[in-house]
Amino acid sequence: MNELNPRGTLLIAGGGGFIGGWMALEALKRGFASVRSVDVKPIDEWYQVHADADNVVLDLRNPDDCRRAVQGTDHVINLAADMGGMGYIEAHRAKCMISVLINTNLLCAAKDAGIGRYFYASSACVYNVDKQRDADVTPLKEEDAYPAMPEDGYGWEKLFSERMCRHFCEDFGLQTRVARYHNVYGPHGTWDGGREKAPAAVCRKVAAAKLSGNHEIEIWGDGGQTRTFMYIDDCVFGTLMLTASDFTEPINIGSAELVTVNQLVDIVESIAGVKLRRNYILDAPKGVRGRSSDNTLIRKVFGWEPKISLEEGLEKTYRWIYDQIAARGRSPEAAKV
Ligand code: NAD
Repeated sequence: MNELNPRGTLLIAGGGGFIGGWMALEALKRGFASVRSVDVKPIDEWYQVHADADNVVLDLRNPDDCRRAVQGTDHVINLAADMGGMGYIEAHRAKCMISVLINTNLLCAAKDAGIGRYFYASSACVYNVDKQRDADVTPLKEEDAYPAMPEDGYGWEKLFSERMCRHFCEDFGLQTRVARYHNVYGPHGTWDGGREKAPAAVCRKVAAAKLSGNHEIEIWGDGGQTRTFMYIDDCVFGTLMLTASDFTEPINIGSAELVTVNQLVDIVESIAGVKLRRNYILDAPKGVRGRSSDNTLIRKVFGWEPKISLEEGLEKTYRWIYDQIAARGRSPEAAKV
């Protein structure tokens, strides 16, 4: 079965993760014949567990586990990776690169099993860092990944894995599709523990400040670095649209709504109804100075681009994170992380 349609069965690799949990939900809603979610984490650590899916714990760095994962499935969505926000990927470059084993062994298993469509989640971290030195950044076009000088560790792994997808398509006819996600956020994702990204970290800090009454916030860097952030619903929609299509080149799936980190904090403060004293941690991990998604290609090919506004997405994300902190009753500790 070549086209992605709901008569097929779907493997979601990394199904216990943030995007994987939402992807499984959407696939079930769309009525796929069956959905198998696979993750290395024990099931009680998955962000979402859907009873109607076949939920399996496997280590996809291992070729045998990849063969078991793809058995009886028509299509693969590969979202499995060892990853996190800047604080995590800058401190764990080797670990991030080991994710190359996941995509390598899953591609081989998919080829041998005659899988119809194979999606790989790449990242804006593949883009040449020299093109991201200014906060007033020119949005990144797909061709800006070359000449190659991606984010160290994580970005090199993503670029190499993209390349593998391309050659598995050219040499073996495996129908690979590759998206370069730009910062995805939403409820049921990582919000503390060191792997969280800026939107979740800011929501957590603001919610913790509100709950504790300590109206201060730590901000990594000077707050002037710029980014775009895509709400999870746009990410899932765009991924399934791309996977179902005939488009075989890597393509940006990201929002074009550029904000500084200070503006991100402004939005979350206004959702929370607080104003916080800002302490800037200038030697904290910051990543590139500016990054934005050029959506010319996705608009041209699909007549679509992510459209959910940052305010709308952050509202839902903040409420969810606030509830997590309130439920844990650990607001003063969370404020310090
Ligand atoms: P996540 O960390 O929430 O999910 C990844 C999942 O992969 C985790 O649950 C993890 O346990 C699982 N995993 C790791 N090693 C595994 C292994 N050996 N076998 C099986 N499962 C394994 O991350 P996410 O935000 O859902 O990201 C999904 C994909 O999208 C990743 O490839 C990530 O690099 C990519 N991506 C995400 C973003 C973002 O902003 N979230 C941006 C760019 C790219």
